[in-house]
Amino acid sequence: MATNIRPGVVTGKAYQAVIEAAKAGGYALPAVNVVGTDSVNAVLEAAAQAKSDVIIQLSNGGAQFFAGKGFPDSFEAKVLGAVSCAQHVHLMAEHYGVCVALHTDHANKGLIPWVDALVGHSERHFEQHGKPLFSSHMLDLSEESLEENLSLSAAMLERMAKIDMSLEIELGVTGGEEDGVGHELEEGADNSHLYTQPSEVLAAYKRLSPIGHFSVAASFGNVHGVYKPGNVELRPEILKHSQALIESTYSTAANPLHLVFHGGSGSEPDKIAEAVSYGVFKMNIDTDTQFAFAHAVGEYVKANGKAFAHQIDPEDGTPYKKKYDPRKWLRVGEQGIVERLQQAFADLGATGRSAAL
Ligand SMILES: [Zn+2]
Repeated sequence: MATNIRPGVVTGKAYQAVIEAAKAGGYALPAVNVVGTDSVNAVLEAAAQAKSDVIIQLSNGGAQFFAGKGFPDSFEAKVLGAVSCAQHVHLMAEHYGVCVALHTDHANKGLIPWVDALVGHSERHFEQHGKPLFSSHMLDLSEESLEENLSLSAAMLERMAKIDMSLEIELGVTGGEEDGVGHELEEGADNSHLYTQPSEVLAAYKRLSPIGHFSVAASFGNVHGVYKPGNVELRPEILKHSQALIESTYSTAANPLHLVFHGGSGSEPDKIAEAVSYGVFKMNIDTDTQFAFAHAVGEYVKANGKAFAHQIDPEDGTPYKKKYDPRKWLRVGEQGIVERLQQAFADLGATGRSAAL
């Protein structure tokens, strides 16, 4: 379903149009965590190849890494790294010909100052360019009471809505952890905290929808990382029940909520498709693309071991410059990401569906 959205970073109404196109078309977009220009470029290349829009996001640790792990002030690095990444994506995305939304990932209460600082950068960017730096940030206040989660989220959204930004919140708990934010799984426990209650989703809708655009990471047994199966059962029907409660309470159209699927790595394609049918427009993917990068580099190192030990072969004098050149093996890693993402676009039904085409 082609619309008239210009390729490049989408924010505000353009981002909402990309989301509506996904919902109407019955597909969702992968949101891929990046740590540097190598992974950013691989995601852009993958999206262009799949002719799909895509979401690029940074965890707080990814943002810090983007600025440089050796940067002396880690908080400043988390801010500057995120800004640096966003500037790179703003410059490059339109030239890849697809729409790209820029997000940040989990921020718990301790990381609110990080999000505040980034919104500050977006406010200045909005003044100068008429659009924010990021499309959306996430506040994960699922460890707090529902009331505190919603009141802090509402305050942040008040500020963000003025500059066409969207907020992602978390209700219930995604298992596992992402960059130190998250929860360990208790083996053998009923893990009922991993399932969002539809009543919580209704409370969030009531509180936030009058303020601005928001999305909800609802928990339906999803877990960060790849764990051995059997610990938690994925129950996408929880999403369906949440949508139904809002539809009936507020007489909305079908699937009024914009839902986010965290912990998508390693999920079965039929569960992914089911979640998408209940209004998931964004599926986070990190673990699987990390592994795709590492696996491809690992294979390359195995096949070219001598080039990683010697500049020149000690026996026959063969120069290895062309093999240890970082462009060789970083490129192999990028290609690993590009290939893995083709599967993600296909699983989500997004291949060939860019709203920019
Ligand atoms: Zn997550």
